[in-house]
Amino acid sequence: MTEIPRSHPRYASLVLRERLVEGFRSGIVAPQGLIAHGRGEMFDYLLGERTTKEARAASRAAAATLVRAKRPVISVNGNLAALCAQEVVLLAGAAKARLEVSLFHRSDDRVTKIQSVLESSGAEGVLGFLPDAVLPGVEHTRGMCSKEGIYSADVVLMPLEDGDRAASLARMGKKTIAVDLNPLSRTSRSATVTIVDEVTRAIPELVKNVEDMLDDKRAATLALSRYDRDENLEAVMARMAANLGELR
Ligand code: ATP
Ligand code: MG
Repeated sequence: MTEIPRSHPRYASLVLRERLVEGFRSGIVAPQGLIAHGRGEMFDYLLGERTTKEARAASRAAAATLVRAKRPVISVNGNLAALCAQEVVLLAGAAKARLEVSLFHRSDDRVTKIQSVLESSGAEGVLGFLPDAVLPGVEHTRGMCSKEGIYSADVVLMPLEDGDRAASLARMGKKTIAVDLNPLSRTSRSATVTIVDEVTRAIPELVKNVEDMLDDKRAATLALSRYDRDENLEAVMARMAANLGELR
């Protein structure tokens, strides 16, 4: 890895880039994933590169949705595995969720490598290698998934998901949780709960909220009653616009 001085003002952001480049070199991250991260970085800049009040509220609603789920599944792609595999495995443990490797640019080789990364962080029973179902309306290998996992899940956490696949899951009647820095994306606008935050900040926050809600059912009810996706996205966009005004 390239050495980055801790004093650099964009230290955290540069470390994430290094992890992705490393993931690309080892065959976990698709080249397109590097570009997708860049789009996210731009929105994070406007957000102030920190977890906002809106993201915390969405995270609590997401945690409530996860603890109430009967068959929760976390969809894992290359960027997520390269950025925060350990935290994702912790979340799966806390929420009793299955992990499924699900790739927009699918290859058996990349699925196997991502599965190994998750397993070396302690994951068991990772799905995705032998897909045996298809998401309705999603063409080609992008729609492949596991019957036991995403296909039959009642709640799908889909960090960094593509809009087409997110919309298909919503049409199937599932509750979906997105983690996406872009409040304007189709993914953000079709999910049941959308956390607009950088994924390496969002996943640990979600782990904490899930752990809190496991033994506090009232907190879960309260979080859901207070959350309104469109209102939350509206507030995020107002924040971005205000930050842009100040940056000028
Ligand atoms: P959509 O397909 O939902 O309409 P899109 O085409 O803009 O959106 P994709 O390229 O399909 O987006 O997916 C990448 C999305 O993930 C982007 O919206 C980007 O903002 C977001 N993203 C990328 N990296 C991160 C990250 N580290 N944390 C959170 N979000 C991220
Ligand atoms: Mg897209």
